[in-house]
Amino acid sequence: MGLFDRAVVRVLPAVPRSVVRLVSAPYIAGPTLDDARRTVAALNAEGKTATVDVLGEEITRPEEAHAIADAYRSVLAAIQGDGLDANVSVKLTGLGLKLDVGLCRELLRSLVHDAAEREAFVRVDMEDATCVDDTLALYRELRAAGLDNVGIVLQAYLKRTLADIADLADLRPSVRLCKGIYVEPAGIAFQDYQVVRRSFVACLEALLAGGSRVGVATHDELLIGETLSRVAGLARDAYEFQMLLGVREARASELVAAGHRLRVYVPYGQRWYEYSLRRLQENPSMAGTIAKATLGRLSGRG
Ligand SMILES: Cc1cc2nc3c(=O)[nH]c(=O)nc-3n(C[C@H](O)[C@H](O)[C@H](O)COP(=O)(O)OP(=O)(O)OC[C@H]3O[C@@H](n4cnc5c(N)ncnc54)[C@H](O)[C@@H]3O)c2cc1C
Repeated sequence: MGLFDRAVVRVLPAVPRSVVRLVSAPYIAGPTLDDARRTVAALNAEGKTATVDVLGEEITRPEEAHAIADAYRSVLAAIQGDGLDANVSVKLTGLGLKLDVGLCRELLRSLVHDAAEREAFVRVDMEDATCVDDTLALYRELRAAGLDNVGIVLQAYLKRTLADIADLADLRPSVRLCKGIYVEPAGIAFQDYQVVRRSFVACLEALLAGGSRVGVATHDELLIGETLSRVAGLARDAYEFQMLLGVREARASELVAAGHRLRVYVPYGQRWYEYSLRRLQENPSMAGTIAKATLGRLSGRG
C-alpha cells in the first residue's frame, strides 16, 4: 500500500458525504431501482450486458435479509418487464449468511427459483474468506436440486482456488473469475501482484479446460490479453469479459466492437455511502486509484 493510498484511507471517514458521493458517482447507478434500469438500458444500447447488485451492508436482523431478497425480486421483475439483457449478483451475507445459514439457504433458493421462472440468472458474489466454504456448499445444494441458472465467483488470490476448481469440475460451473477484493492473510492468499496474476491465468486455463462458462472479471490489461489469446476460437458464449461500472469504459467498448460479450457490474441502492466507504477502506489501493482518477477529472486531466 503506497503512502498516498494510506493517507486517503485515513481521512475517508472525515470526508463529507457529498464528496464521497462525487467520488463514487461513476461507480454506482444511483439510489433507486429506476436508476439501475436506466443504467442497464444505456449499457444494453452500447451492446453491453449487465449484472445488477442491490447494495446492502452489514445486516443484523432477519427482516433486513428478507428486504434485500424482496429488492432482488423487484430487480428480476424489472429486467423481465423492460426486456433488459441483465442478470443479478447477490452477496450471501446480505441474505443472512452470517446470521442464520438456514435463512440464507431459503432466501437464495427462492430467489434462484424466481429467476428460473423468468429465465434469468443469479450470480453469487464471493465475499471474504470466511464465506467461501458456505457459499460453495450452498451453490452445490442448488445444483443438486436441479437449479442450473446460478453461478459462483472464484478469487485468484486465494491459494485454495485451483483445488476448488478441481472439486467443482463435475458441475461444470458457470464461474466469474476475479482477483479478489478483500484483504486476506498471507497464509491463505497470495500477496504479490504478479503471483496473483499468474494464479488468475492458471485458474482461467483450468476453468476453460473443464468446459466452464467463464466470466473474466478484470480491468488488468495484461490479463485481458492473456484471456484473448486463450479464448480465440471458442464459441462466443463460452466466456465473457466483466467490468465494474465506470471503470475502463472505453476498453470495454473496444472489446464489444471486437465481438466479445461484455457484462458490466451495476450496483445501486440507498446504502451507497456505506458501500463506498467500506469498499474504499477494504481496498486501500483502490481508494488511491479512485482518488487519483477523481483528482484527474477535477483538474481536467481525466
Ligand atoms: C464484474 C466484477 C465483479 C467482481 N466481483 C467480485 C467478487 O464477487 N468478489 C471479490 O472479491 N471481488 C470481486 N471483484 C473485484 C476484483 O476481485 C478486483 O478486486 C478488482 O476487479 C480489481 O482487480 P483487477 O483485476 O481489475 O486488477 P487491478 O490491477 O486492481 O486493476 C487494473 C487497473 O484497472 C483499474 N481499476 C481497477 N479497479 C478499479 C476501480 N474500482 N476504479 C477505478 N479503476 C479501477 C485501474 O486502472 C487499475 O490499474 C469483481 C470485479 C469485477 C470487475
